[in-house]
Amino acid sequence: MDATLDNTSKHNISIETTHSKPPKFLSILTGDWNEINESDRFGKCRSVTEFEKLNRVGEGTYGIVYRARDTKSNKNVALKKMRLETQKDGIPVTGLREINILLNLQHENIVDMLEVVVGKSFESIFLVMEYCEQDLASLLDNMNAPFSEPQVKCIMLQLFSGLQYLHENFIIHRDIKVSNLLMNDKGCVKIADFGLARKYELPVRPMTPTVVTLWYRAPELLFGSKTHTTAIDIWSAGCILGELLDHKPLLPGRSEIHQIDLILDLLGTPNDGIWPGFSKLPSLENFTLRKQPYNNLRDRFPGLSEAGIRLLNIMFMFDPNKRASAEDCAESSYFKEQPRPCDPEFMPSFPQHRLKRKIPKGAEKKENRKSLDDPFKTFGDGVPGQALLKRARWDS
Ligand code: ADP
Ligand code: MG
Repeated sequence: MDATLDNTSKHNISIETTHSKPPKFLSILTGDWNEINESDRFGKCRSVTEFEKLNRVGEGTYGIVYRARDTKSNKNVALKKMRLETQKDGIPVTGLREINILLNLQHENIVDMLEVVVGKSFESIFLVMEYCEQDLASLLDNMNAPFSEPQVKCIMLQLFSGLQYLHENFIIHRDIKVSNLLMNDKGCVKIADFGLARKYELPVRPMTPTVVTLWYRAPELLFGSKTHTTAIDIWSAGCILGELLDHKPLLPGRSEIHQIDLILDLLGTPNDGIWPGFSKLPSLENFTLRKQPYNNLRDRFPGLSEAGIRLLNIMFMFDPNKRASAEDCAESSYFKEQPRPCDPEFMPSFPQHRLKRKIPKGAEKKENRKSLDDPFKTFGDGVPGQALLKRARWDS
């Protein structure tokens, strides 16, 4: 077996690096540590020195992203540096998942990953991706006027198309939010950041509930369900639709309890009638919710058509089994009525915001959309009985 890192490897290899000694790899077959020859060190990966760094375009919680020029092809690309400093045992399995999932996906609404390149001495690994001029979080934070309804419809249809493709391929993204949606200068929306994405199997295996950034987190996760389905991405997409229409985050909770409160205010209190098994969810065993009998979507979106309200309602079904699929959403009559979705080519390219994305020091402290990059971020109180997990332990 070729144990060096190449672009198609699906194996979790462990690489040991120190400054003084040559790097070694742990063979999965023999269990021995072997030295890596000088000539084999990069495997089939190119070195990052073949790229000219242009500027930093983003910094999420888990990686720094640069705009760079590939000196071989002269094309601009995005380089996402995976953080390995805290890893003692080689590449984190989450990183391998992101690489593996992205390399196997190809769709116009999913960011295209071109290759993996390595830094010196395996201390860093970079994902090379197509470069997109904008992310929706920075755009929303910088735009003066909200997106028009035709533009909102255009963005949402592209998001549904990307989600349908992912879900048909048994991938749950698990962190759909505006900062993970990119847009290129042709108005094409791309789902990015597969750091939390998982391939699911049937029957579904339990997974930790603490995924998805709080504001976009589905109620089944907030109530401690360990069964993840594609419906969690649809809930997040519903939050994005609300955010795009209203030009402000729909459910900006400050804690898990506050998040639940905001959901109840907007949609009413669920019960076993509309969501069978609801009262048996882990966090509800010792906990009773206040009663709020009204669905307030219509008050919250007074200008929205009946079809628009219906679409929001099917995306916000409490019972994940009843929640709409991405295909159902794309078929909604909301997209067929006036005003019709605009063509991506006619999306404004917002040149005034291009490359203005700045990453202020301590950005996490500012409560804008970009500061919400950590799905594990909580603001104090948690749901009783629900342990707060660190990213390193986020999965089985
Ligand atoms: P993290 O896991 O750290 O959140 P992301 O993949 O979401 O990493 O990247 C962080 C930010 O970097 C994004 O919100 C976006 O602003 C920018 N970014 C990521 N990928 C690209 C890309 N392909 N083109 C342009 N900008 C990107
Ligand atoms: Mg991100």
